[in-house]
Amino acid sequence: MSVVYLLGHPVEHSLSPAMHNAAFAVLGLPHRYEPLDVSEDELPGVLDRIRTGEILGANVTVPHKETALKLADTWDGPTAEIGATNTLSRLGDGRLLASNTDHVGFEFAVRDLALDGKRVLLLGAGGAARAVLTVLYRHDAAVAIANRTAERAAMLARTLAHPVDGEPLIVPWSERTDLGGVDVVVNATSLGLRSEDPLEGAALRPEMVVIDLVPTAAATPLVRRARAAGCRVVDGLPMLLQQAVASFTVWTKRPAPVEAMRRALFASVS
Ligand code: NAP
Repeated sequence: MSVVYLLGHPVEHSLSPAMHNAAFAVLGLPHRYEPLDVSEDELPGVLDRIRTGEILGANVTVPHKETALKLADTWDGPTAEIGATNTLSRLGDGRLLASNTDHVGFEFAVRDLALDGKRVLLLGAGGAARAVLTVLYRHDAAVAIANRTAERAAMLARTLAHPVDGEPLIVPWSERTDLGGVDVVVNATSLGLRSEDPLEGAALRPEMVVIDLVPTAAATPLVRRARAAGCRVVDGLPMLLQQAVASFTVWTKRPAPVEAMRRALFASVS
């Protein structure tokens, strides 16, 4: 039996254990997936347990995605470019591999949206926002970023500038509710995990698309308000499922049982 941890703070309300434990059970794998609330100081010790093979791997969530990448020995795909990891595993030689499957999940979540040329307001500048930004660039969206900590938004713009168009615009956090010139809003902050609305007071128009990454069992206030306003809405669940499917394969080297994971996810939110 081997354990995969979800490392973060907070982690207690995560929907990921239901998906991964269903997947292990349906494939008859003797593993289990458990949330583990860790501080930044405790993170290196847990990562060493992956290096030694004591645990199979980990997902990383708020607020450790960028720190975990710095602590890893190597990375794959666009993980270094994104600058954040949500999936850790052990290579055969004991090195700690950092992967990013959030961008896979977000790419899936926006697969039916025509984002080309759309004016997108991205809320947040953490690990998830970094993955979202790389996908928005692939779709040629015109991106502006608003983040509570202005310096973190500026750092994101500098370190993840568009290869042709350069740095995205920065919108002051206090002006994020002015949605006059915005077609699409993406919430990649933690606001919503505890029923906060990151756009409280902002007028949502029916022609807008609202994408809220926050994956909660009950719809977030932003998702509820956007649905009521007639917007096209994508909640956090499609992305959560697809990033989990990709992470499962990183740890087990097997195709994930997607339908079993989808059933487990939707059973846990209904
Ligand atoms: P992170 O790296 O810790 O970043 C957190 C972000 O939220 C930062 O931009 C932070 O702003 C902002 N924030 C936190 N508390 C805030 C507050 N009280 N007021 C305003 N802004 C606040 O976390 P992350 O990994 O990027 O995750 C962000 C969110 O995306 C989480 O809710 C996570 O659950 C969700 N997510 C969902 C999926 C999915 O599959 N659906 C995948 C990944 C992430 P500062 O820079 O000012 O601290």
